[in-house]
Formats: sequence, C-alpha cells, structure tokens
Amino acid sequence: MIAVMNKNDPLQRLKQEIECIKQKLLDLGPIHPGSISGQYHVCGTASCRCHAPVNPIKHGPYNKLTYSYRGRSNCRFVRPECIDELRQRLDNYKTFRELTARWVELSIEMGKAEFFAKAEKAPAASPPTET
Ligand SMILES: [Zn+2]
Repeated sequence: MIAVMNKNDPLQRLKQEIECIKQKLLDLGPIHPGSISGQYHVCGTASCRCHAPVNPIKHGPYNKLTYSYRGRSNCRFVRPECIDELRQRLDNYKTFRELTARWVELSIEMGKAEFFAKAEKAPAASPPTET
C-alpha cells in the first residue's frame, strides 16, 4: 500500500486505520447480537426425576440465545447442531461492534485534526480548559 509514504502524517495514519477497519468489516462473516446461556427445565410429568423432592435432576442444559434489538429483549432456544455456527456469529458481532466503535473514535480524531485544530490552539490569554 501507499501507507509508507505518509507515515508521519497523523491525519494520514488515521485515514489508513479507517481503511483497514473497512476492509476487516468487508471480510467479516455473518453476525448476530446476543449471548448464549444454559437453561434447565422442569417438565410436566410429576413422577419425573426433575420433580424429586430431594436432589431433583432437571432437564438440560438447553442453549438459550438472549439478545436485545431495538429496545426489545428476545430469547430463542438453539438446536445443538446450530450452536457452533451461532457462536461464530456472536463472535463476529463482537468484532463488528469493536471495529465500528474504533471507526467512530478515529473519525472524531480525524475531525479534530481537520476542522478543529485551529480552535484548540487558543490564544494564550484564555486559560486552557480540560473537557
Ligand atoms: Zn422431567
């Protein structure tokens, strides 16, 4: 890449990292939000071991996916044969979130360098303010 050319230009470095993030996003496989937890159940058969008064053995664990989307909480039971693929998608989603968070962070840095650099170099008369 042309990366080497402007190695010492901070703005250029930011732009390059953003391009790198975009590429990683393109390469990311399917995503899904949420997390998986094991759930134990009690069935409807009164004579079942899960109803034993002492040391009952509940059914499970069953894999339950829980996620929140547009303010609504959702949960689904996951078939065992789907669990690996779903875990991969949950991992991808975490990566997606990390990459986009970093993209926003870098974009803010870029904005500072491009639009607000002069404003931050305020005249010496006014004391510097921490924000
Ligand atoms: Zn039972």
